[in-house]
Parts: sequence; structure tokens; C-alpha cells
Amino acid sequence: MAPDALLAALARLVPAMQEQATALDADETFPEQEFQALRNLGALVAPLPLRLGGYGAGTEPEGCDLLVGMLRTLGQGNLAIGRIFEAHVNALQLIVAFGSPLQVERAATDVRDGNLFGLWVTDPPGQALTLEAGSLCGCKGPCSAGGHVTRALVTMLTATGTQMAVVPIDGTVGIEPMRGVLQGMRACSNAVVRFNETSLPDDAIIGGPGDYLREPHLSTGAWRTTAVTLGGLEALVTATKSQLARRGHQDALLQQDRFGRMLIAQETARLWTVSAARCTEAGATPVADRVAYVNLARIAVETACLDTMRLAQRALGLAAFLRPNPVERLLRDLAVYLRQPAPDAVLTEAAAHAFSV
Ligand SMILES: Cc1cc2nc3c(=O)[nH]c(=O)nc-3n(C[C@H](O)[C@H](O)[C@H](O)COP(=O)(O)OP(=O)(O)OC[C@H]3O[C@@H](n4cnc5c(N)ncnc54)[C@H](O)[C@@H]3O)c2cc1C
Repeated sequence: MAPDALLAALARLVPAMQEQATALDADETFPEQEFQALRNLGALVAPLPLRLGGYGAGTEPEGCDLLVGMLRTLGQGNLAIGRIFEAHVNALQLIVAFGSPLQVERAATDVRDGNLFGLWVTDPPGQALTLEAGSLCGCKGPCSAGGHVTRALVTMLTATGTQMAVVPIDGTVGIEPMRGVLQGMRACSNAVVRFNETSLPDDAIIGGPGDYLREPHLSTGAWRTTAVTLGGLEALVTATKSQLARRGHQDALLQQDRFGRMLIAQETARLWTVSAARCTEAGATPVADRVAYVNLARIAVETACLDTMRLAQRALGLAAFLRPNPVERLLRDLAVYLRQPAPDAVLTEAAAHAFSV
């Protein structure tokens, strides 16, 4: 399937994803059917480089616009699906960037065989994942799609520093579902994943010590999260519009004022996201400039979302807080998904960079 056809097929899945989202959220259930549909369409293979049968979506500059479209479309359908797919792309991107040719081939075979990858780099306080004498001990969490991904790129503490490894997720690891604790993004099927002296497979370590923390990969990949967020923002604006119209509020001046501001925020988020994606994936400007630009994009999109959420709540009133109004879930999912690491540092470092050049 050509990239355009893949995008069009994904767009056709959006209404069904939106319809299912309420039930998946209520039950905190992994979107199994949706990921099977993505697998059937070849969407999971799209991040692989062209030479390995993919479209380079996230791994080659040619795949940039396709990936923007995929992440945005999935975010429109269900932010949880977008978030899980984004982690799959991120894991493959790191394997392609830092893995040996053999490791990249192995990952490509795994993806073509239908495996979904996770990216588990967060450690619960005091329980960091550690490599000792060839075995993994400790935890990762929160882990999206815990119990559903079959491969995970994890970070672990080793004698030489933080290292990445690709591990098969099978019966040897303990999955502790985080049920009933998260306000939103519940369909991510979040879990704490416990490794109990799990043997690290041969040739599992990707790259060298400290590579995960290396720029530009550490920071600039955040554009992908903003692209998923943009999709969620667009779904919120569309749902608010149709509910205002259903109430006959399209001619009410203050509702028009609020809706106009929502449209401005939505377009601001779109422009920043596309620009940050192209700047990152082209890789043509100095690393520090790219990092600062994506950092600004992160905060610009976060601000656009927070403004829109406030306006939607004010426009719809209490209805925006009542289940099963989709706006109620979208507000919760967006609120949680916007909590990305170190937002203060991201903004102040970008500002400091601008002073330094
Ligand atoms: C639904 C969901 C699924 C997730 N899935 C995964 C997953 O699959 N894999 C994974 O690895 N992770 C996952 N995570 C974790 C996620 O990647 C981030 O770790 C998390 O969202 C960070 O958010 P935070 O608000 O705690 O960030 P923080 O960085 O802790 O920021 C919180 C606040 O503290 C401030 N702050 C941070 N550091 C300092 C400091 N040193 N001094 C002063 N202020 C500071 C920040 O600016 C911000 O205001 C998931 C999270 C969620 C919510």
C-alpha cells in the first residue's frame, strides 16, 4: 500500500476508533482490535527504513510527512492508540539509530512478524531497572501497553552507565496493571513491569553507555508526541463544534468568540508540529538549534491544548464533565498526555539557547 493510501485507510478507521474509545477508557482495556487493524494495514511496518520494507516513517527524512499524518490521525481516533503507536516508532527509531546492522535486521523481522514494540524508560522511584551479572532486576513504569507489547526497548543501569536493550516481553516478566489510578489515557493499559533476575538475551544491548541520553535523539523526538496531541486537540475542537451547533449556539457571539480562539489554537499547534517535524527529520540545522526549536514547539502545543480545554469547558459547561460525552474523556486524556517530562527545563533551556546565539 502506498503512503497516501495508508494514510487514507487510517483516516477511515477514525470514526470506529472514536466510537470504541469510550468503552476502552471505561474498562482500561488495550485497543486490541485497533492494533490488529493497524497491523493488517502495514502501519506497524511503516517506521522501518525503505530498504527493510517500510516507509522510513520516523527513521528517514522521506518518511516525515507520512509520520506526521499517521500520528495526527491516530490521535484524532484515540490518544491512547496514538501514544502506544508513537512508542513503537520511537523504539524502532532508536534501534535504527544506535543498533548494529544485525540488530536492525532482527527488529525489522520482528515487526514484519507482527510484533508491537514498547519504549519503557521510566523507573518507578527506588526500583530502577538494573543489569547485574547478565540478569535484569527492578521495574519499569508506568509502561504503556504492558502485557500487550511483545518487544520493549528499555533503559537499564549498568556498571558503565545507562544502556538501552531490546527485550522480549513474555511470561518471564511480571506485569502489574495500574488499574483505577490514572485520570486519563486509561486505554494505554498502563502497568508496572517487574523483571525478576530475567536473563538478558545475547546481543540485546543497543548502542553504548549514555546513548539514550544523547542529543538530538533525546529531545527532538518530542515532536512525535506533539503530533499525537495535535490529533487529540483536533478531535476536541470538532466535538465541541458539533455540540455547540446541536444546541443552536453557532450564532451566539460569545460562543463564536470562544470557538474562534479554539480554531486559532488548533492551527497554531498544527503549524508548530509540522515545522518541528520537518526541522527534526531533515536534520539540516545544528543540533542545539533543533533541540531548542522542538522544545519551543512542545510548549506551544501544550499551551494551545490547555487554552482549548479551558475554552471547551466554558463553552459546553457541565456537559463537558458528564460521561459518556466524548469531550469529557478527551479532556481527561489530553490533560494526562500533556504531562510530559521536564516542561520547565524545556522552555527555559530553549530561551537560554536563543540568548546564546
Ligand atoms: C499514560 C502514561 C503512559 C506512560 N507510558 C510510559 C511508557 O510506556 N514508557 C515510559 O518510559 N514512560 C511512560 N510514561 C511516563 C512519561 O514518559 C513521563 O515520565 C511522565 O509523563 C513525566 O511527567 P511528569 O509530569 O511526572 O514530569 P516531571 O518531569 O516530573 O515534571 C513535573 C514537574 O516538575 C518540574 N520538574 C522536573 N524536574 C525538576 C527539577 N529537577 N527541579 C524542579 N522542577 C522540576 C517540571 O518542570 C514539572 O513542572 C507514561 C506516562 C503516562 C501518564
